[in-house]
Amino acid sequence: MGSRPPEDLRKKVKERLRYYDDLRLGPYFRDRKPAETLGAAGRGKKVGAETPAAKTAVVPAPAAPTKPRDLTPGRPAPSASTFLPVVQAPSLFGSVETIEGDTLETIRADMGECTRCRLHKQRNKIVFGAGNGKASLVFVGEGPGHDEDMQGLPFVGRAGKLLTQMIEAMGLVREDVYICNIVKCRPPENRTPEKDEVATCSPFLMRQLGVIRPKVIVCLGNVASQTLLGTHKSISQYRGQWFDYRGARMIATYHPAYLLRNPAAKADVWVDLKKVMVELGLPLNRTRR
Ligand code: SF4
Repeated sequence: MGSRPPEDLRKKVKERLRYYDDLRLGPYFRDRKPAETLGAAGRGKKVGAETPAAKTAVVPAPAAPTKPRDLTPGRPAPSASTFLPVVQAPSLFGSVETIEGDTLETIRADMGECTRCRLHKQRNKIVFGAGNGKASLVFVGEGPGHDEDMQGLPFVGRAGKLLTQMIEAMGLVREDVYICNIVKCRPPENRTPEKDEVATCSPFLMRQLGVIRPKVIVCLGNVASQTLLGTHKSISQYRGQWFDYRGARMIATYHPAYLLRNPAAKADVWVDLKKVMVELGLPLNRTRR
């Protein structure tokens, strides 16, 4: 037998395991509670998995999300087509796709007044996400900016207005889609989120996507696309290409903030959005703009 690990290391491991429990990942680790002992009554039984999940933190529940129209009643299962490059699932979640009984409200409650990464220190409000909780189309951005941080809502600043125009150009309204970010708290000075911040926060996004089960995910910018694709390549190398992402179709396009600086790139984005419209069965000749 080796010597006992130092106290601070044991404390860190304990905290990390508690965090995984918050995310209901405990059962996916060796030496954690076996499936049979957890019972199916609680939240967190993963569909198609052998093990349900662990307990969650008790925090006040947020307001219920709005429930506007779904673009695709019946929500047919996406085809299992193959696209390059092969999507790498974030390692933290492995093959976890959905958690039985999980809801956006549950995820928000699990998040609580989160202090899991350093971004909590300067945030004003957590920006969880907004829109149709059953949307066929989800936009994933990088993180909140100043306006979002003040209002607690995603994409409400200048870039957000442009995203709204993009959505309307597709013949939709914001309430038809779901909009969220990789990190839920504003990075200071709008800097790019650090790797560890992304790794800490993105499991919440994975759960959101697992609950919403959109038909199409549009990644806005490098951080969103690199995180979901598990790549370090620049978005310019795969922008506009289709990928499979855990049963959904995923496409990456430029972030609206980039378009504010480079209006000429709007044409590329419109090409990408038209691909999304075709995928969703939206008429190309009846757009609002
Ligand atoms: S960015 Fe995410 S993980 Fe970090 S404090 Fe905010 S909610 Fe928590």
